[in-house]
Amino acid sequence: MRKQETKLLAYERISILINNAIEEKHLDYDLANDQARLAKKIAKRVRLKLPYNIRQFYCKKCKNFISPGYNSRVRIGRSQVKALRITCLKCNYVYRKLL
Ligand SMILES: [Zn+2]
Repeated sequence: MRKQETKLLAYERISILINNAIEEKHLDYDLANDQARLAKKIAKRVRLKLPYNIRQFYCKKCKNFISPGYNSRVRIGRSQVKALRITCLKCNYVYRKLL
C-alpha cells in the first residue's frame, strides 16, 4: 500500500476513535481514554501529525483525553493578548491557545 493511503486510512481510524471517545466519555471515561490513547498510537506508528482539532482533546502534560466541560475548563483570557486558557482537570495543567 502506498504511504499516502496508509496515512489516510490511519486518519480515518483516528477520527472514528476520537468521535467514539467524545461520545462515550460520560458512560465510561476509561474506555474513552483508551480509545484516545489508541488513536495517538496509530498516529505515531504512521508518523501522522494530528491536526489541532484532534490535538486539543489531549492534555499536553498528562497526555490524557480531555474534553471541554467534562474534564477540562476553557476560559477566555482578559489580557491584551486574546487567548483561551484551557485547564486540564486531571493534572491541573493550564495551557493557552492564542486566538
Ligand atoms: Zn493533564
